[in-house]
Amino acid sequence: MSIATIDPSTGQLLKSFDEMTDRQVEEVLARAAVGFDTLRTTTFADRARWMTAAADLLEVERDDVARMMTTEMGKTYASAKAEVTKCAMGCRYYAAHAERFLADEPADAAAIGAVQAYSRYHPMGPVLAVMPWNFPLWQVLRFAAPALMAGNVGLLKHASNVPQTALYLDELFRRAGFPAGAFQALMIESSAVERVLADPRVRAATLTGSEGAGRSVAAIAGQHIKKTVLELGGSDPFVVMPSADVERAAEVAAVARCQNNGQSCIAAKRFIVHTEVFDAFTDAFVARMSALRMGDPMAEETDIGPLATERGRAEVEEQVQDAVRQGARVLCGGQRPDRAGWWYPPTVVTELTPAMRMYAEEVFGPVAALHRVSSYDEAIELANGTNFGLGSNAWTRDPAEQERFATDLDAGMVFINGMTTSYPELPFGGVGNSGYGRELSAQGIREFCNLKAVWVGEGGAAGPGAGAHSE
Ligand code: NAP
Repeated sequence: MSIATIDPSTGQLLKSFDEMTDRQVEEVLARAAVGFDTLRTTTFADRARWMTAAADLLEVERDDVARMMTTEMGKTYASAKAEVTKCAMGCRYYAAHAERFLADEPADAAAIGAVQAYSRYHPMGPVLAVMPWNFPLWQVLRFAAPALMAGNVGLLKHASNVPQTALYLDELFRRAGFPAGAFQALMIESSAVERVLADPRVRAATLTGSEGAGRSVAAIAGQHIKKTVLELGGSDPFVVMPSADVERAAEVAAVARCQNNGQSCIAAKRFIVHTEVFDAFTDAFVARMSALRMGDPMAEETDIGPLATERGRAEVEEQVQDAVRQGARVLCGGQRPDRAGWWYPPTVVTELTPAMRMYAEEVFGPVAALHRVSSYDEAIELANGTNFGLGSNAWTRDPAEQERFATDLDAGMVFINGMTTSYPELPFGGVGNSGYGRELSAQGIREFCNLKAVWVGEGGAAGPGAGAHSE
């Protein structure tokens, strides 16, 4: 795919960009290395000031940035504005807390024959961030804000369909005061990632995207012994038990499935409903899905815009048709409208069997898989029955059951009586084929740090005290 903005609501090519030449990539890498030498000597107070200035810029420029995102990938203007606001909040969060998260951690010096012992966090250097288009600002900011506050340098390889957002980010941190080279966008296609990641100046990589891209980037990083964080796909379960507030669950279910036009890694995708409340939930859920207004993403009354790419729409359509061919029942939606652009309506599919692709695959569009179960154990078995393990949702008013779900759901995140969302205060990430490592919270800023152990003996001591052994 070439690097271009194609309006998903019309399918029209609006702007295309040349891929960087080898020489331009080299210049970016050289600037990143110099930028790291400068950034690592700055103080938390310096970086917090610049990060706060970045938040201010985002807030001032919110409407223009949001319009650009809507044009590039089709999310509604309202949700794009909310995304920009959330990014400013993320910048402010790390500006306020980075120093505390990365403070020296004292160890029990006496127990190891030292007069002083502690762990210290150091930045690693330039980190390559391979990012997706679905939250084109937030996915990048949730990496960049902690990385820069730790003193690391960011190199962004953004998805090829959001180049204007990539270029905006390329300038944002410099405009906010960060040194040259602290954060840069690489206008390259995915085939050029290997060369960048192999470069010795690049110390680590983070990738948010599909399983295939994650495997590929992690394999390259492995060859060069570089750390990776992978935020990959998910097929999050949304379990509804008999004690749940069924109306509320159905209302949230429609939002949880169709947020961002159905293209969120942590969207609820499989609805696993206890038979005692199955009919009531299904009626309410289908009514809410059917009532969502699909249309111009810039219009205020629109709930759901087009899918971001033609390829993405074709994949969603094929997954639904595959299920229908094998006997699944469509309760609403299921047919693409006859209009230009990559539209697909809110859809609910039930009577699914394991042979159908939708049963275990991620569906990256507004399509819900609806299952009936007759016990807690059956619900857990189905919920944990994919290779993914990103977010998960359970609806129950029974405190004992809430505890069990929190323990038994095999996922990086469990939300009870609510919709999975990312918060700077909570770690974000998955298990299994959803990836590894965590973003956000204190954990997120530590992922790309060298945690150095420091042991200090009495003056003149040559090494570790008696009884210690060296590695
Ligand atoms: P994708 O194709 O994997 O693209 C994501 C990024 O990876 C893009 O920058 C893409 O560049 C690059 N890329 C693709 N293949 C690559 C390769 N072989 N080597 C190096 N880079 C490569 O993902 P998508 O289909 O656009 O995005 C949807 C997926 O992302 C879904 O599975 C979704 O669940 C997942 N996602 C996960 C999270 C999370 O936090 N866990 C968040 C959002 C999305 P090009 O655009 O140039 O191909």
